[in-house]
Amino acid sequence: MDEETYKIEYRKGTKWNERPEQLYKFMECKQCGQMAKASDDSIAITCSDCIIEMWEPLESSYIKSDKPRGWTLMAEFIDKDGNVYHRGVEQSTLKGTLESTDVKISTSPAKRMTNREKQNLTGTAALNLHKLKKQLQSTRWKKDKKPILAEIKLHSKVASAKFPRNFNRVEYLKQYKK
Ligand SMILES: [Zn+2]
Repeated sequence: MDEETYKIEYRKGTKWNERPEQLYKFMECKQCGQMAKASDDSIAITCSDCIIEMWEPLESSYIKSDKPRGWTLMAEFIDKDGNVYHRGVEQSTLKGTLESTDVKISTSPAKRMTNREKQNLTGTAALNLHKLKKQLQSTRWKKDKKPILAEIKLHSKVASAKFPRNFNRVEYLKQYKK
């Protein structure tokens, strides 16, 4: 089954505990798709970044579990208590004025990313980065630079296929693919 095979690469050692002339097996992480060192007999791996994320504070996975993946990327998200968020920022003046977002509709299926999807994402991120860096150069004031820098940070991660936690690829493309 094509869906179950992961990309494999052999790379020369670069770390202090590796031999530079030896080849080490690298494999695509089954969670995020970045390449990580694998043992010879592994069929699927989870990279260290994803392992760290799994162990991150319980609040992110439990207390916030009523919010869908990627809700901080959404232009507008209203939780079940009527709190309104614009791209993850609470808009206290709007509380209780709008209908709650239907989580079932806005949540994308957590299906493993295909290589094509990944290329689509990294390509979109690269284009946005290029545009934002230009924009940053022509921006004079620190307060105007701040939101641009925040976006640059997001796109840099996506461009190098290091997808942030709660990353919603469907929302991302909807928003940034022109
Ligand atoms: Zn990973």
